[in-house]
Amino acid sequence: MMFFYNSLTRTKETLKTLEPKRVKMYTCGPTVYNFAHIGNFRAYTFEDVLRRALLFNGYRVTQVMNLTDVDDKTIRGSKAAGVPLKTFTAPFIEAFFSDLKALNVQPAEVYPAATDHIPEMLTLIEKLFARGLAYQSEDGSVYFSVAKFPGYGKLAHLDLSGLRAGARVAQDEYEKESYGDFALWKAWDANDGDVVWNSPWGRGRPGWHLECSAMSMKYLGETFDIHTGGIDNLFPHHENEIAQAEGATGKPFVNLWMHCAHLRVNGEKMSKSLGNFFTLRDLIAKGWTGREIRYVLINGHYRQALNFTFDALEAARTALARVDECVGALTEKAGSSQAGGKLPKWAAAVREVFAAAVDDDLNIPEAFAALFSLVRESNTALRQNLLSVQEAADALAVFDAMDSVLGVVRFGRTAGDETLPAEVEALVASRAEARANKDWKGADRIRDELAALGWEVRDSKEGQKVKKR
Ligand code: AMP
Ligand code: ZN
Repeated sequence: MMFFYNSLTRTKETLKTLEPKRVKMYTCGPTVYNFAHIGNFRAYTFEDVLRRALLFNGYRVTQVMNLTDVDDKTIRGSKAAGVPLKTFTAPFIEAFFSDLKALNVQPAEVYPAATDHIPEMLTLIEKLFARGLAYQSEDGSVYFSVAKFPGYGKLAHLDLSGLRAGARVAQDEYEKESYGDFALWKAWDANDGDVVWNSPWGRGRPGWHLECSAMSMKYLGETFDIHTGGIDNLFPHHENEIAQAEGATGKPFVNLWMHCAHLRVNGEKMSKSLGNFFTLRDLIAKGWTGREIRYVLINGHYRQALNFTFDALEAARTALARVDECVGALTEKAGSSQAGGKLPKWAAAVREVFAAAVDDDLNIPEAFAALFSLVRESNTALRQNLLSVQEAADALAVFDAMDSVLGVVRFGRTAGDETLPAEVEALVASRAEARANKDWKGADRIRDELAALGWEVRDSKEGQKVKKR
């Protein structure tokens, strides 16, 4: 049994899925107007650990993560860069996938882009009109009428007593205090340039919140199991997603809402607007590896704020070296023998502690503590020559089981890729950056450097593919 804290009910609940042993899950993805920062990656690595924990418990998982490639921010960015929207967002999408790989994040099953789902969004607006929940304002934009949807505010626990019927917010993002009718469809204005689609309500573009209701229901059904995001997504984004989906279908949208707390830097939220952020490539350029960064990002309880420091990266490096040393010694001892014997008592006990921690609302700090007990116990047994060849193989299998959730021991292997040496990883990251900056000469030069090291790089829609020659 697994237990998770549900932001909707504000209690820890037993996981109950719609279909036996199967989870349908939606995770809000990046707005592709910039390189994602490691605060964003705290959210994506939390979701990755959640996905892996479900798989560890024998669930089949269908995960959908959207790409927000049209909204206020992407339009502003493409205008400032003087290029069409798609040209502006493409390199950031590529960089995003290459960063996920560098952090050993397992790919979702579907990555739908908002601009590929405008018809689905228009159909959703039509349903909201049919149910009396949408209206067109004088300026041509279409709004969701919050006062007409009885469940509004149930996720954010809003007090709606001060609601002024018809008060509207046009921006995609706003504070709790300024809630009101939000835009489903924004009538074209000069700032939108050539970012425009036809609709029954005139030319325009979708409001940001609409895409996640439309795309989640398209790929997962009108009701599905889990929806996740960072805590800042809870209001208004997720509240509005519920209103749009339940308003249109009359059915419950999502059973379990999970949100991770923020990554902070010196006590402040890490965010693009505060300018206090690091991207993954910033840290890789400073000599840290994706593996060390992943270790730091997941090693805290997801519902507690995590303070990012370089000391934590340093500690991750030391801790991982200890794991590597132990796994190396066990591998040597085990030789070619396969797991399948009887686990030493201590290894079985540690495995149990690990599983209980994971199942209890993803208590990853405790899961790591179990991993290090395994390191300690294995080292002691090895030192005292108490470990048979078979037992060494079995202890290794426990490391692998734990690592199927944590993804830091046999780094890269679980994603079906070769592990990249730090040097190669750094070159690949800087090449992605060069490509994003349209520095084709630089990108070619780095390709040659990689070739000289014996690595071949190919460019694809999902980013760079790197192979040993
Ligand atoms: P955005 O690209 O701004 O839409 O954000 C993508 C994801 O990152 C969302 O799930 C956000 O809630 C999450 N996020 C943004 N900033 C942080 C942060 N400092 N810590 C953790 N998650 C964050
Ligand atoms: Zn979303």
